[in-house]
Amino acid sequence: MAAFKRPGELSASAFGLSFADRDVGGAAAAPIYNMNERLALTEQRRRLPIYAHRTQLLYLIEAHATTVVVGETGSGKTTQLPQYLHKAGWTGGGRMVACTQPRRVAAMTVAARVAEEMGCRLGQEVGYAIRFEDVSTPGVTRLRFCTDGVLLREMMQDPLLQKYSVIMVDEAHERSLATDVLLGLLKKVQRRRPDLRVIISSATIEAEAIASATIEAEAIARFFDTSNVRRPVGHVEALPAEGQPPSRSPALMSLEGRMHSVQVHYLETSTSNYLQSAVEAAVAIHKEDQPGDILIFLTGQDECEAAVKLLEEEGRRLQRSRLKWRLQPVALYAGLPASHQLAVFEPSPRGVRKVIAATNIAETSVTLEGIVYVIDSCFAKQRCYNPLTGLESLLIAPISKASAQQRAGRAGRVRPGHCFRLCSEDDYESKLPATTVPEMQRSDLAGTVLQLKSLGIDNIMSFEWLAPPPAETMVRALEMLHALGALDGDARLARPYGTQMAELPLDPPLARMLLASGEMGCTAEVLTVVAMLSVQSVWAPGGRRDVDDAKARFAVAEGDLISYLNVWKAWEESGRSKKWAITNYVMHRSLLRAADIRNQLQAHLRRLGIKPSSALEGASAFDQEALATVRKALAAGLFINAAKLTDELQVKLSDQDDSGASIYRLVRSAGGEAAAAKLRIHHSSVLFRCRPQWVCFYAAEQNDTGWYEMRDILAIESGWLTELAPHMYRLAPVNTQMRR
Ligand code: ADP
Ligand code: MG
Repeated sequence: MAAFKRPGELSASAFGLSFADRDVGGAAAAPIYNMNERLALTEQRRRLPIYAHRTQLLYLIEAHATTVVVGETGSGKTTQLPQYLHKAGWTGGGRMVACTQPRRVAAMTVAARVAEEMGCRLGQEVGYAIRFEDVSTPGVTRLRFCTDGVLLREMMQDPLLQKYSVIMVDEAHERSLATDVLLGLLKKVQRRRPDLRVIISSATIEAEAIASATIEAEAIARFFDTSNVRRPVGHVEALPAEGQPPSRSPALMSLEGRMHSVQVHYLETSTSNYLQSAVEAAVAIHKEDQPGDILIFLTGQDECEAAVKLLEEEGRRLQRSRLKWRLQPVALYAGLPASHQLAVFEPSPRGVRKVIAATNIAETSVTLEGIVYVIDSCFAKQRCYNPLTGLESLLIAPISKASAQQRAGRAGRVRPGHCFRLCSEDDYESKLPATTVPEMQRSDLAGTVLQLKSLGIDNIMSFEWLAPPPAETMVRALEMLHALGALDGDARLARPYGTQMAELPLDPPLARMLLASGEMGCTAEVLTVVAMLSVQSVWAPGGRRDVDDAKARFAVAEGDLISYLNVWKAWEESGRSKKWAITNYVMHRSLLRAADIRNQLQAHLRRLGIKPSSALEGASAFDQEALATVRKALAAGLFINAAKLTDELQVKLSDQDDSGASIYRLVRSAGGEAAAAKLRIHHSSVLFRCRPQWVCFYAAEQNDTGWYEMRDILAIESGWLTELAPHMYRLAPVNTQMRR
């Protein structure tokens, strides 16, 4: 067997990159491909680490109300455990097993894989459900993969989750907002339903990480301990007698892994351009001519696409150098169309080396075969909510060491692998935090609070949080819900708005504008806008002249939301033609999805007894009054995010920015941080080069430049604010209110 040659050294230095090595153990091995690939599915399943534990796992699940399963990515938790439960009879008697995922893509791909392993059509015995898309059949589906958010929403109809015998909360280590809420609620449900089994599964790698992850798992296990007798976590109980409930002390099980060693390399000095460095490192590895796919971790869709472009150019250049392997770059991120995703998951054909440029999504939740090299930028986009401004930031920040270890682990699935971290070892040690802050502690909680209230949990403060959110965030959520009319003065769910808003599968502001449209007689228009706001952008990726020109044809001075109405109308008039969409640089796929969402929301409105209406149908194109009705209904959901143009000095930001940035300030701010927040119009907005005096926006994010950039903007008249929200905005002389 040929010794495995360490990649990177020579070729990397040719690019001015040099990696310092740190061996994390394990002997080098000859390159072998994933031989499991050719094995029958049954045989593949038997080879997974979880297989040896299946009897013991089933025993624990039978004997304990809660079982925590810790095992590294790829050990078979997600795909196998639900199948074991199915085989063992947990899906008998018309009941189901649910398995929740924090990410939509994961729910879909995992369900597809399990359906394949069970030899059934997706949507039959095995199904999935994500928001606005339910691919399962009542009465037939036994294993249901869904996002954690979908299961939360199901609890509003079925608070005790009676349909399910087992709920598996997967990827619990990610600590998504909905997962944390779900865990808190499941603990409550178990008190009322002692027969319900909860499985909490979490990924981990390598000894170091297992140690810390187990502490986390133990914390979760302890959280679920409702027995009066304190037993050590992981204590195994006897099986309950026939008809008796299981033990309330949780079981803890670690699946021993099957990981190969991963050699970690660092840069000698941290790079200032990780995208470029990542591409260079990938090319360097490729030139070494050893087989194995490469996985690059970047922070967002744009970066992934940019990396793919750069790699394609490199690939063409390399074609002449007679390398054994052909370079095939692909991108993987959450918004990727399903058809493109397939290319990522399919095993590479002979002679092809896949280079996958991925976001965080590839960290633990989806299985990628054949990865031997990981290139880690050590960065990720981190969403963070600031309760003082009521705005979010989405900043590129260093990942945690726990994440970095997960990422490295992706290289060691098939055979010993390599992970290249694009920073120096010193920076890694000193600049990366140990763990990631749970989403619960850095999110806007208005939607969550509304859901909890509608589940009858009135005292939000005393809810058993796995990680309590900051008090300011809680207060802000209550204030916002009160302003929207969802809560009364005593912070109780108000009728009808509160209950109705909770019922709609939408953010509180969007739900509120739908309800307003019912009263103002323009449900048709607001449904369209809300549906368009619920999909990935309808515009083709921008930046090109022809795209911008096409967009300008639909653009109106009233802003993005009204421009969406124009797009919709034109698409409808074309007979929902794909050709029309292509010639107008509009994403047909997004429009189709919006149409589907629109139908579902329409059904929701019918159920709420809200009659369909339209303000613009039959009105002339210049009927400003009819249009104002629609705009007001939209503003009824967005008035909290109202901003006014200032006459503050404009700063010219870049050469493309010929107009400079107009500065906006929040109207609601009485002072403090909110007043200091500087907003401007995002370049994707149709109002980018305009200067409307008063606007409302659906989203604003602070980016790395420090600005808050508003997207999905609606131009309003100042009088509407006092008219729609007199409880929030008083008729003060506007000028003095805004002057500072
Ligand atoms: P875990 O949840 O423990 O991370 P999974 O159950 O997702 O593990 O995956 C177990 C194994 O199943 C993987 O190691 C892989 O071999 C196989 N697998 C899972 N999903 C797919 C897929 N979409 N295509 C091919 N193989 C897959
Ligand atoms: Mg999994």
